Amino acid sequence: MAAVYKFTDDCEDKMLLGNKGANLVTMTRIGLPVPPGFVISIEAYKEYKRTGRLPIADIEDALQWLEGHTGRRLGNGLMVSVRSSAPVSMPGMMDTLLNVSSKAHMVSAVKKIFGSWDNLRAVEYRRLHNIPRDIGTSAVVQAMVMGNRDDRSGTGVVFTRNAITGEPHLFGEYIGQAQGEDLVSGSRTPSPIQELRSAMPEAYAELEKLAHTLENHFHEMQDVEFTVESGTLYLLQTRSGKRSGQAAVKIAVDMAKEGLISREEAVLRVKPEELKALLHKRIQSVEKHEPLAHGLNAAPGAAAGKVVFHPIEALRLAEKSEKVILVRPETSPDDIQGIAAADGVLTSRGGLTSHAAIVTRAMGKPCICGAEEIKIDLKAEQFEVRGHVVHKGMEITIDGTSGAVYLGTLPLEEVEVTEELRELLSWADGFRRLGVRANADTADMIKLAKTFGCEGIGLCRTERQFNAPERLSAIREYIMARTPSEKAEALEILRGFQEEDFAAIFRELEGLPIIIRLLDLPLHEFLPSETDTDVPRVREMVRELREVNPMIGHRGVRLGVTNPEIYRMQVEAICQAKSVVEPEVKVNAAVMIPQVITVQELLWVKKQVKAAGLRVGVMMETVRACMRAGKLAHEADFFSFGTNDLTQAVYSFSREDAEKKFLATYLRLGILQDNPFEIVDVKGVGRLMETAIMWARRNKKEIEIGVCGEHGGEPRSIRFFHQIGLDYVSCSAFRIPVARLVAAQAALQEKADKPAEKVDTA
Ligand code: ADP
Ligand code: MG
Ligand code: MG
Repeated sequence: MAAVYKFTDDCEDKMLLGNKGANLVTMTRIGLPVPPGFVISIEAYKEYKRTGRLPIADIEDALQWLEGHTGRRLGNGLMVSVRSSAPVSMPGMMDTLLNVSSKAHMVSAVKKIFGSWDNLRAVEYRRLHNIPRDIGTSAVVQAMVMGNRDDRSGTGVVFTRNAITGEPHLFGEYIGQAQGEDLVSGSRTPSPIQELRSAMPEAYAELEKLAHTLENHFHEMQDVEFTVESGTLYLLQTRSGKRSGQAAVKIAVDMAKEGLISREEAVLRVKPEELKALLHKRIQSVEKHEPLAHGLNAAPGAAAGKVVFHPIEALRLAEKSEKVILVRPETSPDDIQGIAAADGVLTSRGGLTSHAAIVTRAMGKPCICGAEEIKIDLKAEQFEVRGHVVHKGMEITIDGTSGAVYLGTLPLEEVEVTEELRELLSWADGFRRLGVRANADTADMIKLAKTFGCEGIGLCRTERQFNAPERLSAIREYIMARTPSEKAEALEILRGFQEEDFAAIFRELEGLPIIIRLLDLPLHEFLPSETDTDVPRVREMVRELREVNPMIGHRGVRLGVTNPEIYRMQVEAICQAKSVVEPEVKVNAAVMIPQVITVQELLWVKKQVKAAGLRVGVMMETVRACMRAGKLAHEADFFSFGTNDLTQAVYSFSREDAEKKFLATYLRLGILQDNPFEIVDVKGVGRLMETAIMWARRNKKEIEIGVCGEHGGEPRSIRFFHQIGLDYVSCSAFRIPVARLVAAQAALQEKADKPAEKVDTA
């Protein structure tokens, strides 16, 4: 293995040359105008780390070749840049030195580049993005071209498609008579790329042509750094371009239609995070509000929160779960932690390719850049705009989609599914094996879930229907009742409400399947707190029903067994609603029993409710149910894992207490790698699920098994659920598009026989 590779050599190995270096070699090979140069490899970096020695002889040979090739000598007509190039993208994190004009200077520069792999911000960036530290960087030595030579010179960054909307045209920025650093650092505010077209139409046309060549080669939207020297265009870097969620979807769909990539590839390309970003919030009836200021719409979505001026403040407030908007003149790589903690970013300087813009877009956070009318006073921690002074701690709303800033917290709403997204997801539906259902409790929620493409309802929680005041008072009547007839009377009222609700739900479903979970909550949840009432009977009941540990107390099927009239009432209401609606639309309803631990509970409930014609299933959320899955499968029509309660049970954690008190510490110390309530714990909960599935299917091969915890909408968990052969996932409406996409990706990855991305938690 050689230590040094020329751009003209036959090696495009990114692990050896880094991304930048390897792409420069590729661009050279396909005949693009790249200034000549060579790469001091990552192997050489590792050797240097071990021994402190550089391959000086090889470097001198390469330099001699470069001097021969350009017909100029270093320091005498020839200058070089020395650039860092790692196999992972770490934009702006390491050093680059321009205009290096002596051999000695070049060798110190190479050492500096190698050293910059371990500078503080690079270390921090790697920590945030889970990049291992032993990958290392190469150093690229390249002949300089001078963007500051004359008035037909300049430099710019261009995306081959619009990085915000995905529209297929050049998108980017340009500065005349400047070198690249001026652009990347945000120290000069650039002009839109279209100005290159008026200034130098030929160079612009050439750039458009080269953009096509690059896309045809890489089959991917490119982010290209270029310089024009006295009218001649040179490309200095290309990589796949970061983009907003909206652009990611449009570009994938467009490229599939243009034949650049297959539909499978298009589905694989869109990252779940990008889709999430696309489903970002926006301001409700935005036209009713007067903006305070405008800037560039750098990253889409809306966010509201308290203004802070220092990244560290953003961190501090975010730790207290406060929403914050980070306001800065510009951001630098040192600020990434603060940006990650903030809900949105507003800067007064810098353009659409500035640091703040690129980073927030990748994180899926709203961002407004270059809002120049805002005068920021970092010392006084305030900004001033048109006579308004906004102090630290005041609330603002930013709309990264339009670039408008508003005073105060405005009401936000989610975004609807675009045409391109609809198309991409319909392709995904054709590839996936997992079904995707929604957790939804009301007809309205079901309507929303249908717009996101759910195939049914995997979890309808009936207790939510008791929340409206008149219902709450009915269930309280039931709880207070002293005699069976008083109980029956109260239940009769509830039955009426439930029947109405189920009828509306069935009509909305238009034949889609629904799993209705019978009452799960402990009864005291429906009572006010003891101090909130002076009715003696209520106080008495509150005291009587009080539990030491309500999470694992008198709830779920336990309540169903001691108070069978409740489940009976619910099932009757379902059957009645079904018979009312059936003449219009087909009803495909099943009931699910929560908190089951033994088959006897199931048999008891079945006997009590006589659920004529309804399928009856078990919510798998206790450890014992999992251990008895084989037996339960005999008596149950289906299983649905409630991974939230199951996680609590497996960990012996109560979620709220864990998240409030110690989980953050566990994560910080690395005792746990992920929050098990967000990402399913493969090694504990996951293993239990696998075991349960195995026993269940051994006894009833065709039994339908799904998952209805919120894990059902989380990408890594979905991949795992695919792998263990679940029939469907069920999650909240807004996560359905992500679930459809990831389920397809899991199936495609499996088909391609690529080992699916390793799912491994604590
Ligand atoms: P980064 O990895 O931070 O993007 P680069 O190595 O790409 O750093 O260098 C930053 C900028 O320096 C480039 O975008 C380019 O404008 C300028 N630059 C680097 N090498 C050369 C060169 N050989 N000639 C002219 N400009 C260069
Ligand atoms: Mg660069
Ligand atoms: Mg539960």
